[in-house]
Amino acid sequence: MNENAEVLLISKSDLLAGIDKVLASHKVAALTTKEERTLYDFISASSEIELDYKPTVLSPKKFFFPQDEVIVEYTDDGKVTAKIDAEPMILFGIRPCDINGIKILDEAFADSNGDPNYLAKREKAVIIGMDCKAICDENAFCYKVKANYAHSGFDVMLQEQGDKYVVQAVTDKGREFMKNFNTTAGNQSDVEAFLNEKAEGFKDKTPFKDLDKLPEVMAANYNHKVWDEESSRCLSCGSCIMVCPTCYCFDVADELALSLKKGERIRRWDACMLSSFAEVAGNENFREDKKDRLHHRISRKFDYLMKKHGQSVCVGCGRCVRACLANISPKTIVEKITCDKGE
Ligand code: SF4
Ligand code: SF4
Repeated sequence: MNENAEVLLISKSDLLAGIDKVLASHKVAALTTKEERTLYDFISASSEIELDYKPTVLSPKKFFFPQDEVIVEYTDDGKVTAKIDAEPMILFGIRPCDINGIKILDEAFADSNGDPNYLAKREKAVIIGMDCKAICDENAFCYKVKANYAHSGFDVMLQEQGDKYVVQAVTDKGREFMKNFNTTAGNQSDVEAFLNEKAEGFKDKTPFKDLDKLPEVMAANYNHKVWDEESSRCLSCGSCIMVCPTCYCFDVADELALSLKKGERIRRWDACMLSSFAEVAGNENFREDKKDRLHHRISRKFDYLMKKHGQSVCVGCGRCVRACLANISPKTIVEKITCDKGE
């Protein structure tokens, strides 16, 4: 538990009533169902919220780093305007794997001079986490990379206990937000009761063998046969990247209006699993072979960027596993490399 946390208790009905109150003045995005699909989207009433988690295709990354984003507008009289479209927003019910994903994006987009578009959106958001008591489905492997626990990257964490929630407000934004709700005081034993239940739910779920040493293990297995075995089925569709909460590569394109009097510079998600990703002038391609692309993608998660962020950059959400028509999973690859028998 975060030592700065204020521990509160709230009933489910008061939680939902508080969200309805907040909706009068804020945009709220939450887990909801539209056209029979569960997704994170903006809601207009608390009755639209799904409190029980069902895996979503896209993660909450899309609220800070959208698939398409206009970053500059310009006109033929030479006027150039940087565009930042950020407004206050509440993200409600974000699970630990996705909070860990946002934490990695926070570090990546704050790097160097910082990305003003991402950082402005992030600054205006309040993140309300919802802790998990057990694995959400057979494709998720958050416990393999210890991403089933979130220690930071949120403003408030909710932990369900029967018909109430334990609330930990860990930031000033979170404490301010909780003033909208009818809560009572809680204490450390409420948090511990939840954590005991959670430990039971994840009993027998163990992290990857040598998790902390994965960068060295991956580097030492550069030529492991798993790269041929797994990549031979890859369709180079890029779906695994499109759904990943921690992938942050993008391309930038200029789109001129038909009048040629104005235009927009747009950034769009890009995917290193696409054969075009590493194409350069002269018809050269740095990663022409799909084996090299799979190696690159998985090494970014467990080697190159893991060294930079000090934690696995795959949060084990399972989205790429669900999306892949060729049944390729980072978990299988790491287990084969580390001779881990699983679970
Ligand atoms: S690599 Fe797959 S399991 Fe890992 S964070 Fe990305 S989508 Fe989730
Ligand atoms: S989703 Fe599967 S088939 Fe498509 S690029 Fe990724 S690993 Fe290859």
